[in-house]
Amino acid sequence: MRAPPDLGRPPDIPPKALAMAMALMETGRLHRYSEAGGDGGLVAALERDFARMMGRRYAVALNSCGSALFLALKTAGVVPGDKVLFNAFTLGPVPGALQHVGARPVLVEITEDLVIDFDDLRAKARASGARVLLLSHMRGHLCDLDALAALCQDEGITLIEDCAHTLGAAWAGRQAGNFGLAGCFSFQSGKHVNTGEGGILITDDDDVAAQAILHAGSYRLYRQNGTCPPEQVMADWFDRCGNFSLRMSALVAALALPQLPLLPKRVADWNTSHDRIARRLQAAPGFVLPHRPQAEAYAQSSLQFRLPARDKTAMASFIAEARARGVWVKWFGSTSPEGYSSNPGQWPGAQATEVPRACAIQSTLCDIRLPLELSAQDCELIVDALIEAAEATDDEEVRRAKA
Ligand SMILES: *Cc1c(COP(=O)(O)O)cnc(C)c1O
Repeated sequence: MRAPPDLGRPPDIPPKALAMAMALMETGRLHRYSEAGGDGGLVAALERDFARMMGRRYAVALNSCGSALFLALKTAGVVPGDKVLFNAFTLGPVPGALQHVGARPVLVEITEDLVIDFDDLRAKARASGARVLLLSHMRGHLCDLDALAALCQDEGITLIEDCAHTLGAAWAGRQAGNFGLAGCFSFQSGKHVNTGEGGILITDDDDVAAQAILHAGSYRLYRQNGTCPPEQVMADWFDRCGNFSLRMSALVAALALPQLPLLPKRVADWNTSHDRIARRLQAAPGFVLPHRPQAEAYAQSSLQFRLPARDKTAMASFIAEARARGVWVKWFGSTSPEGYSSNPGQWPGAQATEVPRACAIQSTLCDIRLPLELSAQDCELIVDALIEAAEATDDEEVRRAKA
């Protein structure tokens, strides 16, 4: 019998990107700025292309999405000691960005559909006085972003979007990353564009863009950026923004640029595999999948499901059985996070007791990655292994109960 495919395989680097990277390395000019003058090269080209693709005025290319999140918070005016809201279903770089800027975390509940809970958001905003929300579209799940933007406006909350899993996703026809002050994207290998490491911040705001460019570290060469605010704005900020050296390397831009036009095809491919697996899994006993609203156009490079009837022991045996069948399942409820899984109890300074519902939901929540170009048969093999693992461990539960 054929084994399920390697779910950890990142998107291929296309031949055009390999050629651009080789040509760049032959010149030795891997730094984005040139003192002897220049047009900003590949990093500037990436910024222009990305801003155009997203319909935003500015894009600032950085060394990671984590850096983009940090700079978004900082340029939004967050200072040490400020409270910042974030949804409890997320990954380490989000609470890490809060810690980086010295903010105090205020965790917000999620719903069973894995998106932020609006009632809890409003209540926590009022009770804490926090005026910034760092919203993670974790694992590609979008909340009603129009309703969220309205809620933020009502409550005087500044919205920053973590779009590490939503490049190519949209709510009611508008791309994720365009609903708040800034949107932050990742080019880490596990995301939609694979450059190893890399990130980009988008905004329409002159002051956010100016500060991000200066903090990233542009010396006096910011005119070489692909999208740069007017000189007066840069001059206003120049002496106030320290250099944190968070720039993107030209080599990363060489790898990223040729991947942008491939995104629509990649997204269609990911969604085909996602929907194939989701359809069968949804019908299998014990499995519950999040509901996806009509207005959500997702770009699903991973798939989430819960086994809500299970306790911790039964979850652990399901995970072990699935892995033994060749499907690497991540479990968000394991006591200590493993690899890229996550769990609200682990964030520095955060209180998991603030989000009992998120903890309960995550205690039976699982995740698999979806590599590109899964065949229909690959999808069948993955679902077969998951269902078999569930059946095998159901029996075990029954035996334990009888013993
Ligand atoms: C990967 C990821 C990030 C950060 O991306 P890096 O580029 O690795 O810093 C942020 N948020 C989420 C939800 C992620 O999965």
